[in-house]
Amino acid sequence: MVSRVIPVDGFDLVIFGGTGDLARRKILPGLFRRFCAGQMPEDARIIGAARSEMDDAAFRETVAEAIREFGGAQGADEALAEAFLERVGYEHVDATGETGWESLKGRLRDGVVRAFYFSVAPSLFGALAERLRSFGLADDESRVVVEKPFGKDLETAKALNATLAEHFDETQIYRIDHYLGKETVQNLMAVRFGNMLFEPLWNAQYVDHIQITVAETVSVAGRGSYYDTSGAMRDMVQNHLMQLLCLIAMEPPARFNPDAVRDEKLKVIRALDPVDHHQVVRGQYEADDTQPGYRTHVDDLRSTTESFVALKCHISNWRWAGTPFYLRTGKMLRSRTSEIAVVFKDAPHSIFGPEAGTHRNVLAIRLQPNEGMTLGVTIKEPGPGGMRLVDVPLDMTFAEALGPDAEEVPDAYERLIMDVIRGNQTLFMRGDEVEAAWAWTDPIIAGWKRRGDVPKPYDPGSNGPEDALMLMHRDGRKWREIKA
Ligand code: NAP
Repeated sequence: MVSRVIPVDGFDLVIFGGTGDLARRKILPGLFRRFCAGQMPEDARIIGAARSEMDDAAFRETVAEAIREFGGAQGADEALAEAFLERVGYEHVDATGETGWESLKGRLRDGVVRAFYFSVAPSLFGALAERLRSFGLADDESRVVVEKPFGKDLETAKALNATLAEHFDETQIYRIDHYLGKETVQNLMAVRFGNMLFEPLWNAQYVDHIQITVAETVSVAGRGSYYDTSGAMRDMVQNHLMQLLCLIAMEPPARFNPDAVRDEKLKVIRALDPVDHHQVVRGQYEADDTQPGYRTHVDDLRSTTESFVALKCHISNWRWAGTPFYLRTGKMLRSRTSEIAVVFKDAPHSIFGPEAGTHRNVLAIRLQPNEGMTLGVTIKEPGPGGMRLVDVPLDMTFAEALGPDAEEVPDAYERLIMDVIRGNQTLFMRGDEVEAAWAWTDPIIAGWKRRGDVPKPYDPGSNGPEDALMLMHRDGRKWREIKA
């Protein structure tokens, strides 16, 4: 399969759900920032579409507000905002009815890229795809962008893939996992495959274990009714953590092109062993003196949905046999930290004797805050009095390393939307990847249900349940600190 990369001369981007939360906070401000960075062609048009009745001017006003609030430093620049808004329009369209489709079609131009962003509930994807074709808005060159959640299990993901496949070729479908748009995640590939230094050590012989942490401080308040049908495993592990795991563990693709990269990621997911239920810890945050607990946020005082999960897994292939991967993610934890840590093994023999202690190299890849990488190396503590060893970080915080002239790191959505326009699918999930990820997580979730598993309570602002610490302690290892 060859991806069609079309130079960005002009485009029509229709955002279904243009009045929704995601469009307001991420998609429209992201487009504005790319516009400010000079990356939007003169001939670009953005059309919001939703059921709310409003005209172009009213929609532009909502976009202007979104830009002021979420557009970054340039959001306050009225001249820039005005120039951007000239490209913005609105069409009142019902995804499940006949309203608005002919009129929307009339706005679209021939000879430019057409992209349709489905920023609506997944239950509307089928109706949108069907109408885009039946009303003649989309052709074989058009692209559709779909948001997570991509199904809630293997069966629903397959059904969703099948529905989209009725109307669009896989090369036209862009499934967003915004973690893949993060600068550090792409840098991970640059560091691994652009340097000679790391790749020879990137295997079970030299790596003791790998930790992936995505810790959030937010609760589920405000989105409790959705979250309670999902839980941390479906909401975070099946997609974001799995994608990070793939990029860390995959073999070098022959080329940096969509299918070469995605083939290698798929092989990783397929090589994952089933997870023993003793190696999974579920948690749910409790109330404390100042705030309500999970069950209050979801309005179900008996909910057994997890707001935290930690697990240990293995990849059965030559590169990783014997190296455990520890994954954890949760809400209401001590700090907002996303990090991948590659923990190397001890040196085989210490010439400095036991008093020098044990020291390990750790490559820590931070996704947030302060995207960057740190390589911990062991050196001699300066000064007389013998050979005392100390670990120091070689810091590769990108903003500092690249200096003040470096372009501001674009938000993940900015990058991904522009990739859609450019026709580059490398950072989007392919249908078979998504299905393979569900095929791995489904049995874990089914096991909880079968056993009537109840999540372990944990305090807001903590590192999660005690059992999650034990998951590593049992192996003589420990989690890296979630720094406050
Ligand atoms: P939202 O705030 O509820 O917005 C939904 C949008 O869909 C609104 O613009 C709504 O406008 C429109 N809509 C609803 N029914 C429609 C219909 N029949 N025809 C046309 N438009 C219709 O949801 P959201 O938070 O923006 O999320 C959108 C999608 O992104 C969801 O799949 C969500 O899971 C995913 N997502 C969201 C976030 C986030 O941070 N918000 C993050 C990741 C993924 P009208 O009511 O005017 O029609």
